[in-house]
Amino acid sequence: AVRVRFAPSPTGFMHLGGLRTALYNYIFARKYKGSFILRLEDTDQTRLVPGAAENIEDMLEWAGIPPDESPRRGGPVGPYQQSQRLELYAQATEALLQTGAAYYCFCTPQRLELLKKEALRNHQTPRYDNRCRLLSPERVARKLAEGAKPIVRFRLEEGAETFQDLVHGWNRHEVASVEGDPVILKSDGFPTYHLACVVDDHHMGISHVLRGSEWLVSTAKHLLLYKALGWEPPHFAHLPLLLNKDGSKLSKRQGDIFLEHFASAGFLPETLLDIITNYGSGFAGNQMGRTLPELIEQFDLTGVSTHSALLDLEKLPEFNRLHLIRLLNDKAQRLPLVKKLQAMVEEVYGKQLEDRDILSEDYVERILLLGQGRISRLQDLVSPAYSYVWTRPAVARAQLQTISGEVDVIAKLVLGLLETPGISLTQEVLNQELKRLSEKTEGVEYVRMMKLLRMALSGQQRGPTVAEMMVSLGPKEVRERIQRVLS
Ligand code: GLU
Repeated sequence: AVRVRFAPSPTGFMHLGGLRTALYNYIFARKYKGSFILRLEDTDQTRLVPGAAENIEDMLEWAGIPPDESPRRGGPVGPYQQSQRLELYAQATEALLQTGAAYYCFCTPQRLELLKKEALRNHQTPRYDNRCRLLSPERVARKLAEGAKPIVRFRLEEGAETFQDLVHGWNRHEVASVEGDPVILKSDGFPTYHLACVVDDHHMGISHVLRGSEWLVSTAKHLLLYKALGWEPPHFAHLPLLLNKDGSKLSKRQGDIFLEHFASAGFLPETLLDIITNYGSGFAGNQMGRTLPELIEQFDLTGVSTHSALLDLEKLPEFNRLHLIRLLNDKAQRLPLVKKLQAMVEEVYGKQLEDRDILSEDYVERILLLGQGRISRLQDLVSPAYSYVWTRPAVARAQLQTISGEVDVIAKLVLGLLETPGISLTQEVLNQELKRLSEKTEGVEYVRMMKLLRMALSGQQRGPTVAEMMVSLGPKEVRERIQRVLS
C-alpha cells in the first residue's frame, strides 16, 4: 500500500514551501489510494517554536489537505511526534551497536571544536576523524561504568552509494570520506534527524519518501542505515525547490510566506494550492485556476523535473480572482463566502448601517455576484471603493447639477420607472427603459443621465454599469438614494 508522509520540524510556522511538499504527498496518496501521514520531527528540542506544531496541523486542515494520520488524529503507527518515540530510536541504536555498525563516541565538544577549527584553517571541510572507532571494548565498558555520557556514531563504510531517485534518476554519493561518521544518538538520548527519519519511515510503513531536494544528499546515508538495520528502504523522490521569481531562496525574511498571513489577507486555500503547483512540474500544462481534484487527476510523478519552481507571488491576486469566480458560480460553495462577507460588512460598517436589510443574505449575495470578476479578494468589497453598496453616499445636489441641469426630472423618471406596475427590474429591462426615457424626455441626454445616476447611487464616477448597480442595490435602496437628491 502507498503510504507517504510530510515530516516537518515544528521549528517554525507553516509556510509555502512546506505546503508544497505536503501537497505533493497528499496528491500522491490520493492518486494511489494510499495514506498521507503527518509526522512532527521535534528531536531538536532547542529549536522548537511554541505553537508551530498546532499551526502546521491547523494549516493542513485549512488548506484542504488534512492528513489521514497525525499527532491530533492519531493512527495505527503512532505516536506521530518523534519526541514520543525515543524508545524506538534507542532500540535501533542498540541493534547497530550490537553488530558494530555503530559505536560510542566519547570525544568532548572541545575536541570536536578543535578539529573543526583546524580543518577550517587548512581550508578543508570539517570532518570527524572517527577516532572513537578504535576504542577497545574494554575502554568503552570502563568509560560507561565511570558514568560518561557518550554519543553514538554510525560507522560509514568507505565508498560510494548509488541509488535511483524517482525524480533525479541515478545518484552516486561518496559518503564516508566527506564528513566522517555521523552522530545518530545524542548524549541526552535524542536521535539525530538521520536515525529518527529512517526508524520512523520504517516503522510507519512508508512506501515513498517525497521530500525537498535539499535532502537528496542525505539519502545515501539513510540507505546505509537501512542496510545496517536489515530493513527494506522506501522509494525516494526528491522534489524541486520552490524559489522566488528571481531564483532566490524562498525565505521567511523576504516578505511573508507563512500560510497564516495569506489566510488572514483573504486568499483562498485553493488559490495557494494552485499557484504553488502552477510554477512547478508534474502536472499536465500550466493553466491557472486548477482545483485539487484536477491536480490529483493530472499529477504524474514521472513528469516532475529537477528544475526549481519559480514562484511569482505578484500573480496571487489574479489566481484568487479566478478561484473566487469559480466558487461563486457553485451554489454550495457560494453560501460560505456570503457568510464570510456578511461578517466582514458587520465588522467594518456595522455601526454606520442605515438599514439592517443591507446585512441580509440576499443582499450580500447580490453584491458578491456584482463584484465577482472585479475583485480579487472578498475584502475588496468592504474597501472604500465599494463602501457605497453598504452605506448611502453623501452626494451634494450641487455636484449633481454640474452633471445635468435636470436633476429633479431625471430623479422622477427613475422613481416612476421603479413604480411601473408589473415591471421586472433586470439589467436588460433597465438598460432599455433608461434609454427610452432619455429619448422621449426633452433635455435629458442619455450619457449625462447615466453619469448623474451613477453619482447619485454610488458617489463615484466609475464602477459597474448603472443597470448592474440598480439590480444589486435593489429597488428599495435605489428609491431611497434617488429620493434624497430631489430638491
Ligand atoms: N524534518 C525534515 C524537514 O524539516 C524532514 C525531511 C524529510 O522529509 O525527510 O524538512
